[in-house]
Amino acid sequence: MRNINHCILYREPKYGKCACCNEDNTNTAWCQSCDPDIATRWTIRNKNIDDCLKMFQLRSKKYESVIEWIPFDRLLDVKKIGKGGFGSVYSATWLDGIRKVEKIKDGDNDIYKRAREPSSIVALKTLTSSKENNNYFLNEFKGLMGCKLNFAKLAIYGITQNAETKEYLMVFQYVNNGVFINILKKIFVHLHGRLN
Ligand SMILES: [Zn+2]
Repeated sequence: MRNINHCILYREPKYGKCACCNEDNTNTAWCQSCDPDIATRWTIRNKNIDDCLKMFQLRSKKYESVIEWIPFDRLLDVKKIGKGGFGSVYSATWLDGIRKVEKIKDGDNDIYKRAREPSSIVALKTLTSSKENNNYFLNEFKGLMGCKLNFAKLAIYGITQNAETKEYLMVFQYVNNGVFINILKKIFVHLHGRLN
């Protein structure tokens, strides 16, 4: 057992061993003391974004909920699907794919392996004031991460930056149904009301 940010890590033999510290993992294919750094792609250029991503990494209880910096050139077919007081929303194909843990049978044991979907449809949303040279958009991102935990139930995958407009966007779960945009409007309008 080891402490990180005052929370006790519970390690279980059924999750397998961490290749880094050789202790039992804290979740399937996930060691919360070693993996947040290893499993994360950093922007390198923007310390404020990296610090923000890192703050959430250290709280990630499992591999599937890790958020990361997503290079814009890993997103194809970016199409606008909605616009409103909350910003613009796009759909896109994420070439790296959503993270998942695969369970492989090995005799009587289960082995857990980190994997990704071959590619995934995701949603993008512009973050407020992100074109200007400030970090206000990170406040919105942090608010949306908190909102996700509370009631929105949409998975968030990370942050990207439009290579042309330089706007920052949140990358999150796309739901293929007609009310998706209406649900988003409610969430974002509610959240912006709380942030302002
Ligand atoms: Zn470890």
